[in-house]
Amino acid sequence: MSDIIIGIDLGTTNSEVAIVENGKVTIIADAGKKILPSFVGIGDGGEILVGETARNQYLVYPERTVKSIKRLMGQDAQVVMADRQYSPQEISAVILKRLKAIAEDYVGHSLSKAVITVPAYFSDAQRQATREAGEIAGLEVVRMINEPTAAALVYGAGQSEAKRMLVYDLGGGTFDVSVVNVQAGVVEVLSSHGDNHLGGDDFDQQIVEHIQNHLREQHGVEIEGHGKAMARIVRAAENAKLRLSDEPFVQIEEEYLLEHGGTPIHLTLELARSTYEDMIADYINATMDATHIALKGAKLTATDIDEIILVGGSTRTPCIRERLFDEFGFEPHGEVDPDLCVAMGAAMQAAMIAGQSIDTVLVDVTPYTYGTSALGYLDGMPYPYQFVPIIHKNSVLPVRKSEAFMTHQDGQRAVNVRIYQGEDPDALNNIEIGEFTIEDLLDVPAGNIITLTLDLDLNGILHVSAREKASGMEKSITINNAISRFAPEELAGAKRRIEGLFGEEGAETDADRSESAAAAEARNLIKKAESLFDTVSAEDKEDMVDLIETIMAGLESGNDAALREPVERLNDIIYYLES
Ligand code: AMP
Repeated sequence: MSDIIIGIDLGTTNSEVAIVENGKVTIIADAGKKILPSFVGIGDGGEILVGETARNQYLVYPERTVKSIKRLMGQDAQVVMADRQYSPQEISAVILKRLKAIAEDYVGHSLSKAVITVPAYFSDAQRQATREAGEIAGLEVVRMINEPTAAALVYGAGQSEAKRMLVYDLGGGTFDVSVVNVQAGVVEVLSSHGDNHLGGDDFDQQIVEHIQNHLREQHGVEIEGHGKAMARIVRAAENAKLRLSDEPFVQIEEEYLLEHGGTPIHLTLELARSTYEDMIADYINATMDATHIALKGAKLTATDIDEIILVGGSTRTPCIRERLFDEFGFEPHGEVDPDLCVAMGAAMQAAMIAGQSIDTVLVDVTPYTYGTSALGYLDGMPYPYQFVPIIHKNSVLPVRKSEAFMTHQDGQRAVNVRIYQGEDPDALNNIEIGEFTIEDLLDVPAGNIITLTLDLDLNGILHVSAREKASGMEKSITINNAISRFAPEELAGAKRRIEGLFGEEGAETDADRSESAAAAEARNLIKKAESLFDTVSAEDKEDMVDLIETIMAGLESGNDAALREPVERLNDIIYYLES
């Protein structure tokens, strides 16, 4: 037992410790919590605080608290905490010592060896400083592995064929994107890029500013300088952000936030996901630019990537998944908890070094996407059955997600809700698994908001409810076998579509309905290229038009292999134009 090597994710915002026992990876919880905030502080009585308690005092006593020390690792810097100076290694050592103690408590004896993860871009000096932090904490760092390597191990350890993966890691304070090659448990980082100051904290800050503006406009209050009220707002902002990952609207409420001119101020503010997404759009665009730079660094394009792995808590933000889907044409993986994935990979690497065997990390996920149809666009044209995904493929079960829709007509008293399973942007090409009508809606102008909630449990039972936001009136249905592959009549439909691919009689011949992923991607690319026509030089436009014609010819002949080269070249031009 004393040979156990622990795996540690020493993160900028959060840290975790994990081990492999009986072939399974366990993230070790401390008082029920698997995540230790990477905060260190000195408490009121001069005692050392690590994790949650240090984080809680940060806003009120910043002079006694240190956060994000990872950013200073390897620099000849000192931080001041309660009037004393510390090196970055010493502060990191405090966090490591705490993680070591959490693991020792769990296994019941002392531990002395660790695998610690570091960002792929860390220099020798930064790695050396991390090793020193380990030593100060009483840990021999038997190996340091790159964070994307750890994440890729979790997803790819059991696979024998080579795969190219894109690891998109958006945490609280940093963004890293890496392209890795995985084969037979060996991970090679081909390229990495990122931004050391971009993450969920920036998203929180946008909401904080939104609340500040609201308080200024509604109550004439400046919140700066009100330490405690500010601390509550920061917490409320993060909380609202987390809820917006699952719900289309949130209500931000803080009673008795502060007193102003002798009257208590209560904060009540509704925030829509769409408003929030606008607030963070520039940040998401920046991550996509970095993603393309990483691809370029590996001399690859989006079409060369086999899988996308989501790491870091902020990747739970739905619009990130959607953007990656749009850019790459397939669903990213996020089934292993994105907060814990790196620590799990570290523990797996540790177990490999210690000669322990490991089972692959399996969790229950939905193999399909579920959603509804709505008036939208298809191939640039208005279309009444655009598929709107609500629960995405690879989501961990059980899962509950909501999305808001609006009525289109004044005085519209009913909405017909159709639920589909599938991935096609045209809902009619997916499998309809349920349908109902919500009636007696309020007699109001168009824009009446209906929130649709899909709730899928481990047994494949899908509960669907539609709720009129203004009245709270709700109607719901339960679909019992949502995950089972095909019902007989659907099987027949699928068979017809597949036969259509081979031009057989009686088959559905609509080309769009039986199109391959490569063809769908090519069509998307054409749309994207055309949207750039107004902004490009005549020469670039000519090149693009030529390539589009070649791609169209490939699409007409149904020969996917003929698409690859022109698609890559068009991708390169678009990339060059956008960067
Ligand atoms: P990490 O550094 O990987 O632990 O990520 C922490 C960041 O993820 C923090 O900014 C969290 O607020 C954010 N986060 C955690 N859960 C969610 C969620 N459900 N939706 C959006 N952001 C989240």
